Amino acid sequence: MEIIHAEYLISSPSVDQCPKADRPEYAFIGRSNVGKSSLINMLTNKKELAKVSSAPGKTQLINHFDISSSDKKKWWLVDLPGYGYAKRSISQRKAWKKMIEEYIRKRENLVNLFVLVDCRIKPQAMDLEFINQLGEWQIAFALVFTKSDKTTVKESANNVNDFIRALMQTWEAPPPYFVTSALKRTGAKQMLSYISELNKGWEEHKKLMV
Ligand code: GDP
Repeated sequence: MEIIHAEYLISSPSVDQCPKADRPEYAFIGRSNVGKSSLINMLTNKKELAKVSSAPGKTQLINHFDISSSDKKKWWLVDLPGYGYAKRSISQRKAWKKMIEEYIRKRENLVNLFVLVDCRIKPQAMDLEFINQLGEWQIAFALVFTKSDKTTVKESANNVNDFIRALMQTWEAPPPYFVTSALKRTGAKQMLSYISELNKGWEEHKKLMV
């Protein structure tokens, strides 16, 4: 599957103001600088797409992109404000937490959350805590290890293994994961077929609802 049309639609301050939940939705989150914008641009084949939303002042908003893919599906791609910004005040952090929790827990069409992690670093408490929280909330997610071109295959495999091992202390099964490089387009195909498969599941889910 390929994305044939991708367009920024709207930035919303809360889940209640998001576009109609009438199509499957895939959201992306991670620490600042993890490579989220680059990954979104890679998946959509558009160089500057995610930059629209990362303009100053828009960092605490839920950014929706209108997507049409070659499997004749329409879906929402969502760029969420990340965690770990050193410059955020305590009140901004609290507001972020509230907004993200409400979005993640209330958005009924959210099919999968992609949690991005830099493949060059050892497992970080901030990422592990966020993921364990997702478990408590029973949110479907997949891990995306970014910037694989910046290290050796061996080092990234070690970090991925360490990360999965750290999660296995609290999880029964490892989550789906992708190793990616926005520079080399590594992992794009795999992520897009994963989304395509989940889109089929959404159609089935809809049939059962009527
Ligand atoms: P964001 O803050 O998570 O949206 O991160 P960006 O996409 O803006 O990326 C942060 C920095 O990492 C930028 O300088 C990117 O060019 C760089 N970057 C992101 N992804 C990759 C990648 O896959 N490979 C390389 N070499 N650099 C990357």
